Amino acid sequence: VSPLLSDLIEALRCLPGVGPKSAQRMAFFLLQKNPQAARRLSHTVTEALDKIKQCQDCRTLTEYDRCQLCSNNKRNHQLLCIVENPMDILSLEQAACYDGLYFVLHGHLSPIDGIGPNQLGLEQLQDRLAQNTIQELVLALNATVESQTTKHYITAMVQNKAIKIASLAHGIPLGSELGYSDQNTIAHAFHTRQELAE
Ligand SMILES: [Zn+2]
Repeated sequence: VSPLLSDLIEALRCLPGVGPKSAQRMAFFLLQKNPQAARRLSHTVTEALDKIKQCQDCRTLTEYDRCQLCSNNKRNHQLLCIVENPMDILSLEQAACYDGLYFVLHGHLSPIDGIGPNQLGLEQLQDRLAQNTIQELVLALNATVESQTTKHYITAMVQNKAIKIASLAHGIPLGSELGYSDQNTIAHAFHTRQELAE
């Protein structure tokens, strides 16, 4: 087998859920059946890697300094929804149930893995809340045990502040990740969000 072809097959295996057989199929497809798509894929991946960074306000992935949501004046800038992954924003936007802004943690607190408040941008969130523009915080975290600590941490952060805090827990099946919930479930969870007691 050609060393380059082996490299390509091996490289494709970095994708989630792709085993050796699928990687082989993909490699042959790209080279034989659709070289044009292969060039586009290669070009787009490189360009995205070079240009995409984190939004300075919400930490989502964007090629701009401030993402299109943060710089959109039609959004409600008094509402801030906290999510674990940039992918969750897509799910919530598709459910079309929310018109506020977002803040992306890129994970959840996990001291064993060295993920503390700093890694999640919680200091930046604290500064943001200190500006007194946010009136309601909506926690749209995953309904997993691992995310509970993060939820408690953020709830404690807004204590003694005039900020309403609610959680989406209702409707999202326990133990599931937001990104995998369907639009109706997410919309329902949003409308029935529960205020967290202080
Ligand atoms: Zn942003």
